[in-house]
Amino acid sequence: MPDLEDRRRLATNAIEDASEALRTISLDIHANPETSFEEHHAHAVLTDFLETRGFEVNRGAYGMDTAFRAIVGSGEPTVAVMCEYDALPGLGHACGHNLIAIAGLAVGLALQSALEPGEGTIAVLGSPAEEGGGGKIRMIEAGAFEEIDAAVMLHPGLEDCAAPRTLAARQLSVRFHGKAAHAAARPWEGVNALDAMILAFNAVGLLRQQVEPTTRIHGIITEGGTATNIIPDYTSAIFGVRAPTLAQRTALEPRLQACFEGAAEQTGARLEHRWGRTPYADLQSNTPLAAGYERHLRALGADPLPERASGSTDMGNVSYEVPSLHPGYAIPSEAGNHNAAFTEAAATEEAHARTIRAATALAHATLDLYLEPDVLEAAKADFAEMKASQGG
Ligand SMILES: [Zn+2]
Ligand SMILES: [Zn+2]
Repeated sequence: MPDLEDRRRLATNAIEDASEALRTISLDIHANPETSFEEHHAHAVLTDFLETRGFEVNRGAYGMDTAFRAIVGSGEPTVAVMCEYDALPGLGHACGHNLIAIAGLAVGLALQSALEPGEGTIAVLGSPAEEGGGGKIRMIEAGAFEEIDAAVMLHPGLEDCAAPRTLAARQLSVRFHGKAAHAAARPWEGVNALDAMILAFNAVGLLRQQVEPTTRIHGIITEGGTATNIIPDYTSAIFGVRAPTLAQRTALEPRLQACFEGAAEQTGARLEHRWGRTPYADLQSNTPLAAGYERHLRALGADPLPERASGSTDMGNVSYEVPSLHPGYAIPSEAGNHNAAFTEAAATEEAHARTIRAATALAHATLDLYLEPDVLEAAKADFAEMKASQGG
């Protein structure tokens, strides 16, 4: 039986030794924000680093230019450590994925240093397009998790929480086609596509009172007409619908769609709609893994919250494939994720220090998975129970 304390020390030291190099990578990715599926610079920086550290790197993995797979170690089990590195349009790294990227590297390096040959395989997986596009869903479809025993990652936010709740989410794109006319001379000849959109927005607003308070419906108008003196013949919008579980979200979808169908009926505009092909599942945090992470994080001086609500993540879909852990950890910021203040916060020295601490706790928790057979068994049993309770 390996001395776990010794191994943890090796893991801690590996992260401390790499901290400065990781900080440089984090700031580089932060200074070069790239949105969904465009993360070429981040992909290059991360894969080059892993290669110099002895990982066997597969660039452009799973049929996506900006995904990667980096392997080190040997034998069973195989744990996937997820990296994200996409930014938000116009806001840069307002979700701190530059920190997620280096957290993944840190955990990978820690496990590489703490495990001996034959004790297990480490798979650092680069997943693009978390903010829209569902990179991990495409990875699942490409079989990325077939040989994986568990998957772990970290996400920065405003609170420490081992097992945050996230929502099952899906997007709906809508277009109204009307008929243009002079808005003053002959408005009665037009079919107003903007009226249809405004009616639909109001219908959605009214619908919100009749749905569970835990659900979310939110949208933007992407095209709303071209000139005040033209009756708009075309409008478009994108909506997001979210609920605590897949089943609740699915039940909400036709009710949202009806808002747009009704508006088309009333105005005579023609509705075209398309539901997103990569809907996000809710996150099913593995209970034993979360308990282990929490214990190790407390040992490093943090005081995590028992529960926290969050947005949505494609890690939710992974959590239906293999036992998964996606803790949130706090970085000092004046505002939460998807805000310019969070972009600023994601580049600070304090945020880096918190990332290093959370990554150390995650490395320790993941080490238990490799070195204590009961932990992996418990994680697998918990996963099987979750799947059974969700109807397989
Ligand atoms: Zn994020
Ligand atoms: Zn985000």
